[in-house]
Amino acid sequence: MPKLGDEYEELRKTVEAFARDVVAPVIGDFYEREEFPYDIVRQMGAMGLFGLPIPEEHGGMGGDYFALCLALEELARVDSSVAITLEAAVSLGAMPIYRFGTDAQRAEWLPRLAAGEALGAFGLTEPGGGSDVPGGMRTTAVLDGGEWVINGSKAFITNSGTDITGVVGVAAITGRRADGRPEISTILVPSGTPGFTVSKKYSKVGWNASDTRELSFSDCRVPSANLLGERGRGYAQFLQTLDEGRVAIAALSVGLAQGCVDECLRYVRERQAFGHPIGHYQAIQFKIADMETRTHTARLAYYHAAERMLAGEPFKKEAAIAKLVSSNAAMDNARDATQIFGGYGFMNEYPVGRFYRDAKILEIGEGTSEVQRMLIARELGLSDL
Ligand SMILES: Cc1cc2nc3c(=O)[nH]c(=O)nc-3n(C[C@H](O)[C@H](O)[C@H](O)COP(=O)(O)OP(=O)(O)OC[C@H]3O[C@@H](n4cnc5c(N)ncnc54)[C@H](O)[C@@H]3O)c2cc1C
Repeated sequence: MPKLGDEYEELRKTVEAFARDVVAPVIGDFYEREEFPYDIVRQMGAMGLFGLPIPEEHGGMGGDYFALCLALEELARVDSSVAITLEAAVSLGAMPIYRFGTDAQRAEWLPRLAAGEALGAFGLTEPGGGSDVPGGMRTTAVLDGGEWVINGSKAFITNSGTDITGVVGVAAITGRRADGRPEISTILVPSGTPGFTVSKKYSKVGWNASDTRELSFSDCRVPSANLLGERGRGYAQFLQTLDEGRVAIAALSVGLAQGCVDECLRYVRERQAFGHPIGHYQAIQFKIADMETRTHTARLAYYHAAERMLAGEPFKKEAAIAKLVSSNAAMDNARDATQIFGGYGFMNEYPVGRFYRDAKILEIGEGTSEVQRMLIARELGLSDL
């Protein structure tokens, strides 16, 4: 494992302590009530977590994307709802504005997003499909009298309906290319814009203290200046955003996998069966050894992808590998940890039950495991056969 530099290690320790002392004692109750933890998010904002990879001139901390990944890993060791709130806000909400936005858009949004005072969201998936985005997209945006008029709907959008949601980047069809394919652009839609409706929260299997909504747009009008970057660049923008996002989701997955190891190491020393702590039995030891192995290899995979990303080297394949390996690790570890906890693993009072419910989405969100395999195969030149 590469040794973390001093600044990274200091950040990791700070977030580790915050997750243990502030998040862990209360998050189970928020989860059961399916309630968004506003005060925890406010404290994360005050710590600068929402501004980690954003330069100081835009109100951020001037760190980098790997710093964000370390924070996500430490949060997800304790709870994934808070971790995904941070991941979606930064990686899907703020970063596209930082990377592709105009000076005016950056000035308008980044200081508040970086402080966590406002949350950003990214509306790509539609009810008709998330893997085949261009094929499933029906949302349109048409220029009319200096304004974009948006019609359509989006499904499963994280952070889109909280009291502090500020802006949603909406991918929409803005025309047809010469070859007949849709021209896709991203348009920034502030919360509360007339014609933009946010549905009530979904009832979810996991991530229950995070905010996920369906959005609808009915003749929703925003100024033409709300176009993010260039017209027709929406597809390229979200491919880049998702490549980075996969490294972040990999870090979050490693955190969940590590959380399973942490909980089991403690429990198997305490729980007695047949005259011994259950950790005495080799069947239990081997399970934990496998869990540790998966966590370690998945962490190496995301560190490697992040290293290439920060060095400006191609990292699409490495990001897909990291996401695939770590979401598998999270899912497998959550299953094994729940088994080790026996009946208590099925009770909400222990975190491993929450880990079990939160692990599955990691194999689905920001590109399913099948999509990761498609990307890896394509990078190996197999898609041309
Ligand atoms: C809690 C939650 C939060 C989310 N947050 C966001 C968000 O903030 N923003 C956003 O835009 N989206 C968000 N999503 C959407 C998420 O990214 C999509 O659900 C995901 O990309 C899969 O898309 P889909 O659900 O439409 O499944 P589909 O694309 O319909 O896929 C269904 C199944 O078919 C498989 N499949 C599809 N095509 C192929 C193929 N060619 N070969 C083999 N198998 C294939 C898939 O792997 C999957 O198993 C979120 C989803 C959830 C559940």
